[in-house]
Amino acid sequence: MIILLKSDADAKTVSDLKEWLSRWDVSIESADAFGSEVIKVEGDLDKIDFSLVKRFDCVASITKTEDSYKFASRHNYPSDTVIKVGGVEIGGNNFSVIAGPCSVESNEQICDIAQSVKASGAAILRGGAFKPRTSPYAFQGLKSRGIELLFEAKKLTGMPIVSEIVDITALPFFEHVDIIQVGARNMQNFELLKELGHTRKPILLKRGSANTIEEFLMSAEYILAGGNTNVILCERGVRTFENLTRNTLDIASIPLLKKLTHLPVFADPSHASGRSDIVPALALACCAAGADGVMVEVHNDPVNAFSDGAQSITPDVFDSLMKNIKSVCNVLGKKY
Ligand code: PEP
Ligand code: MN
Repeated sequence: MIILLKSDADAKTVSDLKEWLSRWDVSIESADAFGSEVIKVEGDLDKIDFSLVKRFDCVASITKTEDSYKFASRHNYPSDTVIKVGGVEIGGNNFSVIAGPCSVESNEQICDIAQSVKASGAAILRGGAFKPRTSPYAFQGLKSRGIELLFEAKKLTGMPIVSEIVDITALPFFEHVDIIQVGARNMQNFELLKELGHTRKPILLKRGSANTIEEFLMSAEYILAGGNTNVILCERGVRTFENLTRNTLDIASIPLLKKLTHLPVFADPSHASGRSDIVPALALACCAAGADGVMVEVHNDPVNAFSDGAQSITPDVFDSLMKNIKSVCNVLGKKY
């Protein structure tokens, strides 16, 4: 926390402020900034009600540092977090690709797609079973049966699996799911995040379509604060005025998140764009921007997909994308 004092601050009020701050057992450091005094406060800041700091007349402004997401902060934990899922390492110097259909539809569909994305080099299989659809009349997912079918594909291919949870009461169904996804719509479902913080399952947390990077990190903090350190962030586009794409991929968030946090940062070019024709280009851009992985929707029959067919690429397109990802990883010196 940085407290900037007014240039004409009264010495007695400044010393009262410092005395008040020192009561909270935090470290206080003063410096001069362009003729005004700046006080840097570090330590366990949660105890301090910083709105009270403003009551001291000498205070010009207060700037929160990353301490509002202290467990997620790279400032506090400089080394990259690496999450092991099955034989796959996520984060660090690794680039991992999650691929699969938006929704699990049938045994044949998920097993077919799983085998082809695996052959192309995908590390993890995705498939939605509990679907948070914008319309209540749209396909809502096969629910627990979908998880069972995803598990069948895992047994067949050996790939770890990821699927979305929309309600904590469904947690028992996720016992054999390697990574639990929290979708954009639930990024600020704090009660869900708190409960997932009590598990030790890796969580793929997607950014809300109208949430800032700081809000995203604070949502991750909810999970971390519960003791679950296995959090993977996923940028999936934010809503803007543009309507030729479903969302706008916030590519800047990737290198920025990598600076602000030690957690692995993924990106989802499928939901970010909503259109299969530009998904490969965006996936490569995410890789080049420093993402630790991408999540791509792949379907063997996009026209007849139960959900998100317009943004799903075919196994052939995915195969050629993987070759290009490999080339970018080689340039970056990343393990793939
Ligand atoms: C999904 O991954 O299928 C999904 C619903 O994504 P998002 O939460 O990013 O919309
Ligand atoms: Mn989808």
